[in-house]
Amino acid sequence: MKNTRGKQKILLVDGDGERRRQMTEVLQSVFHVIPAFDGEMAVDVLHSRQDFAAIVLQCRLFDFSGFDVMGFLHTNRSLVGIPVIAMGGAEDELKALSLGAVAFVQQPKEPYLISYQIQNLVGLVWSDRDCDMLTGVLQWEPFLQKCRDILEQSERERRPEQWAMVFLNVDRFKVFNDLFGRTMGDQLLRNLAARLIVMKGVHCVGRVGGDRFVLLCRMEELELGRFRQLGPELMRRLHLKYGLHICCGIYEIDDLTIPVGEICDRAQIAQETISGRSDQSVVLYDEELRRSLRWEQEVVSQMYEALEQGQFQAYLQPIFSLSGNAPVSAEALVRWIHPGRGVIPPNQFIPIFERNGFITRLDQYIWEKVFQYLAEFKAEGYPDLTITANMSRLDIYNTDVCNQLTSLAKKYDVSPSAFRIEVTESAYMDDPQQLLDMTKQLNAAGFAVLIDDFGSGYSSLNMLMDMPVSTLKLDMSLVRSVGSDERANCVVNSILRMAKWLEMGVVAEGVETQAQIDYLRAIGCDRVQGYYFSRPIPKWEFLRLLENYRDTSVREKPPVFDRSADTGEVWGAVTAYDRMMRGRMDAAALYEQSGDMAEVLCVNDSYYRLMESSPELLFRSSQLATGRIALCFYRRWTPPPRPESGRNWWFGDIWTWTARKV
Ligand code: C2E
Ligand code: CA
Ligand code: CA
Repeated sequence: MKNTRGKQKILLVDGDGERRRQMTEVLQSVFHVIPAFDGEMAVDVLHSRQDFAAIVLQCRLFDFSGFDVMGFLHTNRSLVGIPVIAMGGAEDELKALSLGAVAFVQQPKEPYLISYQIQNLVGLVWSDRDCDMLTGVLQWEPFLQKCRDILEQSERERRPEQWAMVFLNVDRFKVFNDLFGRTMGDQLLRNLAARLIVMKGVHCVGRVGGDRFVLLCRMEELELGRFRQLGPELMRRLHLKYGLHICCGIYEIDDLTIPVGEICDRAQIAQETISGRSDQSVVLYDEELRRSLRWEQEVVSQMYEALEQGQFQAYLQPIFSLSGNAPVSAEALVRWIHPGRGVIPPNQFIPIFERNGFITRLDQYIWEKVFQYLAEFKAEGYPDLTITANMSRLDIYNTDVCNQLTSLAKKYDVSPSAFRIEVTESAYMDDPQQLLDMTKQLNAAGFAVLIDDFGSGYSSLNMLMDMPVSTLKLDMSLVRSVGSDERANCVVNSILRMAKWLEMGVVAEGVETQAQIDYLRAIGCDRVQGYYFSRPIPKWEFLRLLENYRDTSVREKPPVFDRSADTGEVWGAVTAYDRMMRGRMDAAALYEQSGDMAEVLCVNDSYYRLMESSPELLFRSSQLATGRIALCFYRRWTPPPRPESGRNWWFGDIWTWTARKV
């Protein structure tokens, strides 16, 4: 709609030369005016170009009248939509409006008055048409056009202004809509847009669609802290208690010749890097991001060839048994042996493959390698060795995984129980039902499933109750502090006890120090993996390591399947103990003892009275060292006899005590 000088273009059709000249002069300060002195000329012009913001049309023209021009506009599809502002005498108004003119300017009138009227009318038509109905900010196309005009002008005038494009997105807007309803969602967007329009440094606001906005800003006036405050501010205004997170990507425009669409893309790319990360609201498209995008391009352009040429290799990191003092298993970890760059670790390419879907192909390739290794190890005399392979969160949507693994097990003549699969907690967060279905399927086919990175942030007890998994892999972040940090000790100890109750195995990952080993051994965590024992190594090196332990026979426990019914029974039993405790008159507590520590499982009301305690106080100090309060031995709890079949949970050393204050 605009010419290269950034002005909206209008076609002025008037047969009166003097009036046309005067009006052109006045209108030129705002518009780029193309004059035409009769209807035929107007039609000629309209044949060759259609990018007018409006047509200002004198109704009374020689031969071919203004009304005829309007008739022509009606029949020409590419011209429908250009607003016509008609001029004429009072007697022309009705006909002009009935033929579709958006407005009528009655003459005679001073040309400058007419031009003001036209300016206002064009402004009105365009502001309505360009704006997003819901929020009132510019729609995507008009926004781009406006930015183009501003930046072009900036470049022409060589003004030293530093412009920036901000791409803004409401994180998890869908969740907000689900929680508070669409009407509230709309209100949120309206309020957000209103805040953005008046924000310091913001020059122009557009809505890309949904919950995404773009802002052209003057960089030096921008206060980035204001963006961080947006979420909480909006929630206060809407009187909602919700952790609204808004994330913004900023691209500082250093080259005015880059197309505006690409400028917006860069701001969006930056924004996407922090999407879903509640700890960060603002990110700049900077040199580092540029580098990582270049790297991504390189990886994507080489990945197929790399797979074909066998550049991806499965390294193995041994998993040791502390009691057996020998490796019992291994985790397969992929390495890219790049001809030019050497060994590339997975964190440099897996996130990229997860974005473009290539990870599912790579995982299948690694799984096949693992089956090959298992067959080889069996032939070398290690039939009991198991290997775990990783499964990306994307793989859970591949319904064929189970069949593929079963065929591989057959092809290499390896028992499914030797191959185990690790899924991360985050896959459960993505789609619990999908993961549950897949796990059940895998279990039924004989493949055990492990939960990877347990305790890394997403841990959900629901997941443990739901998922028939054989083993938890304690995340490195937890293991790192174990043995030196009291809180980490408590957490790890509790997870271990819970796992024991649910009859799950536990593997501690990232074990690096003797102190960690000592603590893990003391609390009964037998399976360990980490640099203390070995880094991930190529297969031949792993075989050599196995040789050193050939005489130590340690076997992995067979996995336990389908425990879902039993978990219910565990909680049921605890409730039964609870009832029993409450029925007693004297102060009583149920403890579980582990080493020299005793932990309260449940107590009765008399206990609270005697100890002047409360459920809250007790909860806070439930990890008790024996001796801190006098616990008189009451009797050993005789657990119900272990059933022959069906149930496989079991309580360890559980004691009841009567408590007496000292
Ligand atoms: P992960 O599954 O949690 O694997 C454990 C990572 O911890 C490995 O990193 C391992 O080398 C490292 N590690 C082991 N012991 C120690 C230790 O004592 N200290 C420290 N600081 N690190 C230790 P790696 O091999 O770089 O793999 C990183 C991640 O890449 C893996 O984390 C896994 O999520 C992913 N990954 C690796 N291979 C595959 C694969 O074949 N498929 C899929 N989908 N993901 C894979
Ligand atoms: Ca893993
Ligand atoms: Ca892990």
